[in-house]
Amino acid sequence: MVCCMADKYGWCKDIKETIKGPDGKDYCIFHAPADSKSPNDLERETNNIIENTSNLINLSGSIFNCPIRFEIQNNKSLHISNSTFLYRLEIVDSNTDRIIAHNSKFKTINIFNSIVNLFQISKTKLEQIFATESTFKYVTISDINKEEETKHNFVEFVLSNIYTFSYFNSKTNLSIVSCTIDKSLYVNDICSNFLQIYSCTINGYAVLNKIETNKITISNTIPINNLEISNTNLSIFPLNGSPIENITFTLCEWPKHKDRITTKDSISIIELIHKKQTYSTLTKKEYTEILSTNEDIFRRLKKKARLDNNELLASDWHYGEKFMLEKRLWTEAPALTWLTLWLYRQISDYGESPAKALWVLLSFLSLFPLTFSLFTCDYTFPIDSGDIRTLTNNMLNYIPFASKAPDSSKLYPLRYLEIFWQTVITIQAAITGFAFRNKFRR
Ligand SMILES: [Zn+2]
Repeated sequence: MVCCMADKYGWCKDIKETIKGPDGKDYCIFHAPADSKSPNDLERETNNIIENTSNLINLSGSIFNCPIRFEIQNNKSLHISNSTFLYRLEIVDSNTDRIIAHNSKFKTINIFNSIVNLFQISKTKLEQIFATESTFKYVTISDINKEEETKHNFVEFVLSNIYTFSYFNSKTNLSIVSCTIDKSLYVNDICSNFLQIYSCTINGYAVLNKIETNKITISNTIPINNLEISNTNLSIFPLNGSPIENITFTLCEWPKHKDRITTKDSISIIELIHKKQTYSTLTKKEYTEILSTNEDIFRRLKKKARLDNNELLASDWHYGEKFMLEKRLWTEAPALTWLTLWLYRQISDYGESPAKALWVLLSFLSLFPLTFSLFTCDYTFPIDSGDIRTLTNNMLNYIPFASKAPDSSKLYPLRYLEIFWQTVITIQAAITGFAFRNKFRR
């Protein structure tokens, strides 16, 4: 008899011994339902296949009703797609070209002391992976536990050179720790509580796409030639300690504060500043340290954004950097230095808001000269057309190029206010022009 699954999977067509399943069909020992076969027989036959296969060990579609341990040598490949592993799968002391599993079901995969060229696992139900003291060239992990109703069901994933139980009790973490990945790492469409990449060496690209977690941290991982994070909400991603210069963010959602994009690191301190609660919750030393750290993060992000020609983002990073600097100057610089920066924010958001600069300029041109004139001109209530003419002519004295040349014999004290105000307007006009240039250069 031939296994009824031989047409579908092909590889078992030469197995002559079959088992009658509860549905009356004939199955090879690999494809037979779990209740219809002896775990010992299955283990023996699996070892036979591993030993007697020269190149590609194809066990796709199998149902393993016992723990399975593979020791694969000579760079053979292992295909275990569409399979069900009801117990632990161990791959130890192996040297494999590729391990491929799609549409499968696993409890725990433990890869120990092995060299794997390509490790590809997708559309699969999986509770735990431990990859320990192993070297990978290409790793692709995607669509894990996607069909589960509770998406946050990815229990634990540790790729590590050091066997670690530190996250053992926390049921939903993905950690890639102390790993050497010779080429590239792709982590795609993962739901977990926490994702960390720590102390890894990734010599090619690393791509994190569609990551849904409560927190990502990437630290002490060098050299990363390029790390791409895409389609991910970055309000979960603290940048402190991350290789910012080597990260490309694509179609990501940044946290926002008052219409400006900001970072996960800075959002809590910005909120404290706006609630005026910094000194009630932090010491001065802690406060200035947080400001310095964030200033540095914004500066590095700005540099990166400019290199990527993303000037819109660079504008928000510039604002963030100067805001942190302004707050830091308040605590440690002479008042005048701080005041200059504070004024610069009030009149133009540090040169980054042409709309704000223009409104300020318009008020400098109208409201202030009107106020000055109302206090300094002679008029009587009710104001008649003559008074309006007097006030208007007087207002023009405060506006550059609008008044007649001053009569030098009439250098009355108010003339100093007029000259001062004309200078203020000229400066604000220059700042407005500068802000527009910043905007449209982009
Ligand atoms: Zn079969």
